[in-house]
Amino acid sequence: MSDCIFCKIVNKEIDSEIVYENENILAFKDVEPQAPVHLLVIPKKHIESFMNFQEEDDELFAEIMVTLQKLAKDFELDRSGFRIVNNCGEEGGQTVNHVHFHLLGKRTLTWPPG
Ligand code: 5GP
Repeated sequence: MSDCIFCKIVNKEIDSEIVYENENILAFKDVEPQAPVHLLVIPKKHIESFMNFQEEDDELFAEIMVTLQKLAKDFELDRSGFRIVNNCGEEGGQTVNHVHFHLLGKRTLTWPPG
């Protein structure tokens, strides 16, 4: 989508600190990190929100999960713990309408979130 900021990051029209990329997925550092490690993992395909994953996206969805697991290992979050967050919709706190999973770690995270 032409006005989507994350599509622009995928297309390298906007700079980002990319930490992982393959044909289907991009992972990059959040521009406003909420923890020492704060990554965003997104499908390259424009999917608006968690609720817009379709059956045809099953493999893509699984690939996103595997990527989150791989990055948790790569960034050495797997021993101390980490959090995966998906904000969905307005009340869920979603501000960018291109589905993304936050991977946060390297600090003690509190619960419940605000
Ligand atoms: P949401 O609030 O939708 O769950 O998360 C959107 C995230 O995208 C926020 O944490 C925000 O800091 C991040 N973000 C927004 N614009 C940009 C950008 O241009 N570059 C990067 N790297 N992160 C962004």
